[in-house]
Amino acid sequence: MGAKPRIDTSRPHPARVYDYLLGGKDHYEVDRQLGEKIPEFMRNAAHENRAFMRRAVTWTANNGVTQFLDIGTGIPTAPNLHQVAQGVHPAARVVYADNDPIIMRHAEALLVGTPEGATNYVEADIREPGAILDHAREYLDFERPITLSLIAIMHFIVDAYDPYGVVSALMDALPSGSYLALTHVSLDGFAEEGAKLNETYTSSIEAQSRSVAEIERFFDGLELIEPGVVATPRWRTDTPVPPETGPHPNYAGVARKR
Ligand code: SAH
Repeated sequence: MGAKPRIDTSRPHPARVYDYLLGGKDHYEVDRQLGEKIPEFMRNAAHENRAFMRRAVTWTANNGVTQFLDIGTGIPTAPNLHQVAQGVHPAARVVYADNDPIIMRHAEALLVGTPEGATNYVEADIREPGAILDHAREYLDFERPITLSLIAIMHFIVDAYDPYGVVSALMDALPSGSYLALTHVSLDGFAEEGAKLNETYTSSIEAQSRSVAEIERFFDGLELIEPGVVATPRWRTDTPVPPETGPHPNYAGVARKR
C-alpha cells in the first residue's frame, strides 16, 4: 500500500473530528477538544448523515444503480457504503475517495467486499475532480448509471474553490440515469449558535455553511427526487419523525441526471 501515511496530530482534521462525533476511536486529543466544543444543535449531524447514506444508497440501488462513487468517505464506520450497496446488489462496485491520509490506514476496511463486487479506495482531493474521474474510470463502467455520493463534504469546499463547478464537473462526466446524493450544513435560522460554531470549528478547519437555497443550487440541472432538499432526517425516512418545529442544521437531497 506504499509509504506510511503522514498523520498530522498537531491540528484537528475533519475526518477525525467526525469520527469523534460518531463515537469512534480513530481521533486524537486535538480532534476531541474541537469536537467537544461543537454546539449541541450540531452534534447529531454525523449520525444523521450515516443514516441518510444508508437510505440514499439503498434507494438508488433499488432504482437500478449498481455503481457508486463516494467522495469524502471518512474513517470507515459500519455499515460502510459498499456493504449497503452490496446488500442490495452483491456485484455492486464502489470507488471511495478522501484527501485525509488517515483514511489510507483504514482502507482495508473499505476494500473487503463481496467476491462478486469490487471496492476501491484512492487518496484524492475533490477540488481536482478530473483526477478522481480518471481513477474511477478504471473501476466503474461510465456507460451505466453511477450514484455520486457527497455526504458532508461540500461545506469543506469554500467558495474560492468553485464548489458548484466541482459538482458539475463530476456530474457532467456521469451517464444519464446517474444520481447525486448530497448532504450539507446550513446555519439558516441559527444566528447565535452559528456564530459560536464559526468561532470554534471554522477557526481551525476551513469550512463554509450554506443557505438552503445555496444547497439546492448543487442540484441545478438535475431532477430532484421527492421530497427534494429537506432536513436530513426527513429524507425518505422509514421511521416517524417529529413535526418540524424550527430550522435544522443539516440538509439532504437526491437528484437524477436526465
Ligand atoms: N461522508 C462521510 C464522512 C464525512 S466527514 C460520512 O458522511 O460519514 C467529511 C470527509 O470529507 C472527511 O473524511 C474529510 O477528510 C473529507 N474531505 C474534506 N475535504 C476534502 C477534499 N477537499 N477532498 C476530499 N475529501 C475531503
